[in-house]
Amino acid sequence: MKLGILGGTFDPPHNGHLEIGREVLRALRLDRVVFMVAGSPQLKRNPVITPPEQRLAMTELAVSEEKAFEASSLEVRREGATYTAQTLAEMERMGNGKDILYFIIGMDNLAGLRSWYNPGEIVRMCHLVVVPRPDTEKTDLLQLEKDIPGISRRLIVLEGPLVNISASDIRRKASKGEDISCLVPPKVADYIKTNHLYL
Ligand code: ATP
Repeated sequence: MKLGILGGTFDPPHNGHLEIGREVLRALRLDRVVFMVAGSPQLKRNPVITPPEQRLAMTELAVSEEKAFEASSLEVRREGATYTAQTLAEMERMGNGKDILYFIIGMDNLAGLRSWYNPGEIVRMCHLVVVPRPDTEKTDLLQLEKDIPGISRRLIVLEGPLVNISASDIRRKASKGEDISCLVPPKVADYIKTNHLYL
């Protein structure tokens, strides 16, 4: 199976994530896209994040209308730190080594990959699919190859989609009581409202 994995904090999951999932699924003819909800992200600057159970619940709601999408609790269930290298190794095992893994990230995350835990192992286990993000500089790929040897062969840089939505902007808007209904799926908007998130 050709399996896309979109890892994220999903605080909250938004229409940009869904758009990315749909486009990568179509462009690379994937069978499924797994939305991998991070348990306790190591490199997030903002320590105030919504509990993993609520982010998982929102992500399940967000993907519920899409047959080829699923939300995974793999990282949320794991004790302690969550590392992508570890998650990919577990996904590899679960598919008995038969799945082809495509890890999807936004261009804003590509340059930082060199400081992730064991990036060499990450690019050995998966293809890395990079989607553009507004206001994000393209990463110097020659330098990246020097830092993570072998990455160029595993890199798929897509031209689109270009979606101007971010979770931090949604949290900011929600905290001011502004309307976020065009930025997240309706069920996620309801969940945020009912659970008084981001106030
Ligand atoms: P925040 O604003 O809190 O940093 P986010 O909107 O980036 O959140 P994440 O859950 O951190 O959401 O994102 C998961 C993955 O999706 C990351 O690789 C991120 O780069 C990517 N991503 C999210 N939104 C976009 C977007 N609009 N365009 C491209 N990539 C995106």
